[in-house]
Amino acid sequence: MQLLDGKFVSEKIKQDIAAEAADFLASSGRKPHLIAILVGSDGGSETYVASKMKNCEKVGFKSSLVRYDVTVTEAELLSKIEEINQDAGVDGLIVQLPLPKHIDPEKVTETIDYRKDVDGFHPINLGRMMRNLPCFIPATPYGIMLMLEQYGIDTVGKHCVVVGRSNIVGSPMSILMARNANPGNCTVSLTHSRTENLKEIILQGDIVIAAIGKKNFITADMIKPGAVIIDVGMNRETSATTKSGYKLYGDVDFDNVAPKASWITPVPGGVGLMTIVGLLKNTLASAKKEVYK
Ligand code: NDP
Repeated sequence: MQLLDGKFVSEKIKQDIAAEAADFLASSGRKPHLIAILVGSDGGSETYVASKMKNCEKVGFKSSLVRYDVTVTEAELLSKIEEINQDAGVDGLIVQLPLPKHIDPEKVTETIDYRKDVDGFHPINLGRMMRNLPCFIPATPYGIMLMLEQYGIDTVGKHCVVVGRSNIVGSPMSILMARNANPGNCTVSLTHSRTENLKEIILQGDIVIAAIGKKNFITADMIKPGAVIIDVGMNRETSATTKSGYKLYGDVDFDNVAPKASWITPVPGGVGLMTIVGLLKNTLASAKKEVYK
C-alpha cells in the first residue's frame, strides 16, 4: 500500500500558486482576493474557514471573512452577496455550508456571481463542467483530480465507484471521472443510500471514492485487492486526547482497508488539504481571468 499524501502534494502545489500570486501582484499591483462568508459558529465550519483564510495568507492572497450571527435574514445575506459581486477587487466569494434552516442554500448559490464562484457550486459552473468547458470545478473534486494527476494514477478504462451523490462532492466527482480527460475516462458507478447491493458494487471498484459522512463506513470486506481508495469523509468526534478537543475520522476504515489497497488517502492529511488547493487554484485563475474574461 502507498499513501496518497495530501500534505506533501498540497505543499508542492501551494509553492507554485505562491509564485504565480507573486507574479500577479508584480504585474497588477494587487493580490488575488478571496472573501468567505460564515453564518453562525458551527465548530466544523469555523475550523474549515479558518484554514482556508490561513492558506490564502500563506500563498500571498488577500483574504477577508464576513461573519453573520445565525439570526441573519436570507435577504440580508443575499444583499451582501450582491454587493460583493459588484466589487472588482474581489476575485472569489464562498459561503460556508451548512447554512441555518431559514436560509435557502440554492438561492445563496445562485446569487453568487458565477465568475466569482470559486467553490464551483453555481449551476453555470456545474453545467460548463458537464460540457467540458472552462469553469470553476468544485474544490473537493478538483483537489482529488489534482491528487490523482500528481501521483500518475492510471484511471483510463477503470471502474470508479463513487459512494455519495451530493452536489458538492459525489455528483461532480462522478462527472469528472467519466469525462474524456486525464485523469478521467473511467466507467463510473454513482451510488447512494438507495443503491441495492452496494457492497457488491464497491467490490468491483478499481477506484473507490467515499463521500458519505459516516465514520468507517467502507470496510475491508467491501474492497477489491489493489483498489485505489479516496476518502472524502470528515467525521468529527469529540476527544479528550487531542489539543483541539476533537478527532477527525474518514468514511473508510483505514487500518483494515489500507493493507488491501494499492493507494489510499489518510484522514486527516488527504482530501481535506487538497480541497483547499482546489479553492486556491480557482481563486488565482479568477484573478488572472483565465476562466472568465
Ligand atoms: P451529504 O450528506 O450531502 O451526502 C452524503 C451522501 O452519502 C448522500 O448522497 C447519501 O445518499 C449518501 N449516503 C448516506 N448514507 C449512505 C449509505 N448508507 N449508503 C450509501 N450512501 C449513503 O455529504 P457531503 O457530500 O457534503 O459530504 C460527505 C462527507 O465528506 C462528509 O463527511 C463531509 O464532512 C465530507 N466532506 C469533506 C470535504 C473535504 O474537503 N475533505 C469537503 C466536503 C465534504 P442520499 O443522496 O441517498 O441521501
